[in-house]
Amino acid sequence: MYPWQQSQWQQVNQLIAANRLPHAIFLQGNQGLGKTDFAVSLGNAVLCKQPAADHQACGSCPSCQLLAAGTHPDLYHLKPVPAENSKSKKPTLNIRIDDIRTLCAQLNQTSQYGGYRVAILEQADQLTLAAANSLLKTLEEPGRDVLIILTSARAHRLPVTIRSRCQLMRFTVPEASLSLAWLGQQPQAAGVNEKQLQQALHYAFGSPLSALEYLQESEPQQVLAEAMVAGLSGKSSLPYAAKLAKFNKVQLLEGMLAWASDLSKLKACGSEAHITNEQYRNKLAAFASKANQQRLFRFYDQLNFNVLHASIAVNEQLLWENLLLSWDNL
Ligand SMILES: [Zn+2]
Repeated sequence: MYPWQQSQWQQVNQLIAANRLPHAIFLQGNQGLGKTDFAVSLGNAVLCKQPAADHQACGSCPSCQLLAAGTHPDLYHLKPVPAENSKSKKPTLNIRIDDIRTLCAQLNQTSQYGGYRVAILEQADQLTLAAANSLLKTLEEPGRDVLIILTSARAHRLPVTIRSRCQLMRFTVPEASLSLAWLGQQPQAAGVNEKQLQQALHYAFGSPLSALEYLQESEPQQVLAEAMVAGLSGKSSLPYAAKLAKFNKVQLLEGMLAWASDLSKLKACGSEAHITNEQYRNKLAAFASKANQQRLFRFYDQLNFNVLHASIAVNEQLLWENLLLSWDNL
C-alpha cells in the first residue's frame, strides 16, 4: 500500500470491522495513484485467513500463498484486452461480454476455499456496453460473500446504472511533498535529482506512479521535447510524427498539454510563471510573445479532444502530424 492511500484503507478497515463491507466497491481517481494495487490489497485482505489487526493480508497463510502465486481459485482479475481476432498493432482494449459472463457464472458458484469470492475489474470504463449490462445483473443480486472491485480513471464513461450499485471510494492526487518523498525512495529514481523528480511529477499531473513511469521511460518525453523545441526554433517539427506514433498516445498527449500550458502561462504571467519545461524557458518565452492566443486555444481544444477520445483507434502518425503542424503555426 502506498503512503497516500492511508485514509482509504482506514475506510476499508472500518467497513470490515463493522461487518459492513459492500458487495461492490468502485475505486475512482486519476491514473497513476495505485488504484489497482489497492484493489489487489483489498482482495487479498478479504481472502486472507489470518489478517492483521488493521485487516491487511498476513502474506503467509495458505490463502495468501495461493494469492502470491496467482493461483487463488476465488480471485478473478479482469482487465481490458484486445479482441481475439485483432491484427492491429495498437488494438482497442476492452472487457468483453464473454469474459463478464464467465466471471458472473464463477461468482455464482460456492467459494472453493471457503469464504469470499473476489472479482477485480481493472479500468472498468473499458467494459463494452453489452458487458456492462451483463455485469449489472450480478451487481443487483451478487449472492453471499461476493466482493466486486472496479477501478477507473474515467468514471464518467461507466453507465450510471453500474456506478450507482457500487460504494464509491475516491483517490485524490497526494500533496507534492509526500509524492516527492516517496519518489526519492524508489530504487528506479536512484541518481535522479530533486528538480527532475519535480518535473516528472509535473508531467504526471501529480500522480506519483505515472511520474515513476516517466522517470523509467524518458525516451517518449525526450522525443516530444525535441519535436516541440524544433517548432519553437522555427524549424518544422513534422519529421518527429513517425517517431511519436510509436509511443503511448495518451502519455504524449498529456506531455503536449504541459507544453501548451507552459506557453499560456508565459503569455499570461510572463517571467513569474511556474512552468513544467523549465529548461526551455527562454525559447518558450520568445515563442509565447509571438504566439496567437486564439490559435493557442484551438490547439488546447484539439489536444483535449484527443485525450477525451483516446480509446478510439486512429492513424497515429496523421494525428501527430496534425498536432505538430498546429504547434509550429501557433
Ligand atoms: Zn494471509
